[in-house]
Amino acid sequence: MTPSDITILGAGIAGLSVARALSLRGWRVTVLEQAASFGETGAGLQISPNGAAVLHALGLGDALDGASIRGRAVELRRGSSGAKVLRLDVSDQRYHMIHRADLIGLLADGATEAGARIVMGGRAHDAPGYVIGADGMHSRLRGAIGGASQAFFTGHVAWRAVIPAEPGAEAVAEIHMGPGRHLVSYPLRGGMLRNIVAVERRKAWAEESWTLRDDARNLRAAFATFSPRVRGWLDRVDEPWLWGLFRHEVARLWHDERRVILGDAAHPTLPFMAQGANLALEDAWVLADCLNRHPDFVSATTAYQRIREGRVRKVVAAANANARVYHLPPPIAPVAHAVMRLGGVIAPKAPLRRFDWIYRHDVTR
Ligand SMILES: Cc1cc2nc3c(=O)[nH]c(=O)nc-3n(C[C@H](O)[C@H](O)[C@H](O)COP(=O)(O)OP(=O)(O)OC[C@H]3O[C@@H](n4cnc5c(N)ncnc54)[C@H](O)[C@@H]3O)c2cc1C
Repeated sequence: MTPSDITILGAGIAGLSVARALSLRGWRVTVLEQAASFGETGAGLQISPNGAAVLHALGLGDALDGASIRGRAVELRRGSSGAKVLRLDVSDQRYHMIHRADLIGLLADGATEAGARIVMGGRAHDAPGYVIGADGMHSRLRGAIGGASQAFFTGHVAWRAVIPAEPGAEAVAEIHMGPGRHLVSYPLRGGMLRNIVAVERRKAWAEESWTLRDDARNLRAAFATFSPRVRGWLDRVDEPWLWGLFRHEVARLWHDERRVILGDAAHPTLPFMAQGANLALEDAWVLADCLNRHPDFVSATTAYQRIREGRVRKVVAAANANARVYHLPPPIAPVAHAVMRLGGVIAPKAPLRRFDWIYRHDVTR
């Protein structure tokens, strides 16, 4: 297509990355973000090699290195004792741990530097011309294009918190697993902070929102049987965010004749594979590439959905399945953990290789 004017709704990870990708290709981009300012919303994100590949291709590799911690390993640990079940070495991969606000910051700088205009406090109910909906999991555009779909509560809630890190925290993402619950933690911001995501299976409903707070005592009670290491972290949590985990269908239709959706707007993903932001980055690259290669909007966005949908459905399904692995109850858990540990000793690279299809996928090649 010949580059022209385009409006992007939402200055999240998807919106800002596609803003930079299109601006670099000569499009005149306006990003409308409903929030008045970026602020410190959110907590840590893990950017895996498939997402990092997009940031590098967008010329933001150095900014990513500067704002993130390069992870050395992912460790699975038994919740009750803290004993290591498996250590996956990721030091040879582009595996990053970053504060969401820092990722948003570097993407916003990147989009502006490439020529995009970002309007804070902006909402467009009826933006004329081409529109990209990067407006997150409660996307209005998704409903307008393909009809709203029902989300259902998965029976899991996630608490998120950021605490001051203990001195010398290793650049490792730790996953502490117990029956019906698990906790993921890793350092952020040069090792000054520690990110905590704690997931519990429960019947009671909780809202799906970035802004709902909970009493830290509920979080501590849920993990009271976990190791002193985990309890020590939770003692330092003030007022965690609480997030109900909902399963959404992947949107059936991602575009019409002048509008297209990407990221969580098209396919909200449970956090059990830490892939939502990474998929948003992949979408952004492919969408910009298709708009650049195809003669018109409909053929470009049809190709974009065709390229992305199969992969996205597979990753979403893998994330859905992963909750079961982390939450195994006794007596299965010790057996499964022993098998994992043995597997890690015999073939230390094998567990990670199972996920090559996710992490080694490079949409920029
Ligand atoms: C507990 C938890 C842990 C997670 N951990 C990871 C992880 O480690 N790695 C990973 O890859 N992903 C992770 N994710 C997922 C990740 O956060 C999301 O997939 C990602 O933020 C999606 O990006 P997005 O740009 O599509 O949407 P968002 O980041 O939600 O951005 C949408 C933006 O649109 C704006 N907006 C909404 N409506 C409008 C409107 N009408 N007009 C204008 N603006 C609007 C919003 O204010 C927002 O800024 C996690 C999620 C959760 C819940």
